[in-house]
Amino acid sequence: MDLKDLYRDVILDHNKNPRNFGKLDPCDTSADGHNPLCGDRLTLTLRLEGDRVSDIRFDGKGCAISTASASLMTEAVKGLDARAIAALRGLVHDTLTASGDSAVPHGLGKLAALAGVREYPARVKCASLCWHTLNAALAHRDGTAAVSTE
Ligand code: ZN
Repeated sequence: MDLKDLYRDVILDHNKNPRNFGKLDPCDTSADGHNPLCGDRLTLTLRLEGDRVSDIRFDGKGCAISTASASLMTEAVKGLDARAIAALRGLVHDTLTASGDSAVPHGLGKLAALAGVREYPARVKCASLCWHTLNAALAHRDGTAAVSTE
């Protein structure tokens, strides 16, 4: 199995069986994200202990890439503090925007599957929507934040 097949299988799996799907009620912070280019919409709800994400869920409707990306993200960030999340977000951003043949950064775990998305530049916003939304949820902890990738 080559790497592209592996990436595709991870995306398909997380789209079909999204992890951490639903809403936390009550939650400590939440945010809504919208990608008008594709129509992806998602809502993140988080529980925090200090600046550590103790639990996170996502809800909404979107294309396979946005759903899989959000599912992978919730698995990756649960238990991390804001600093570790910012570092991971940077790695994901680099991965999504790198040229097609450059190496995938280390430390991504399953998120490396998102490297498959960079062959489809129009879909990068589908994959990054959840990360923008997470950023908004962590930055505006005292209410509901909304982001649009437009
Ligand atoms: Zn999409």
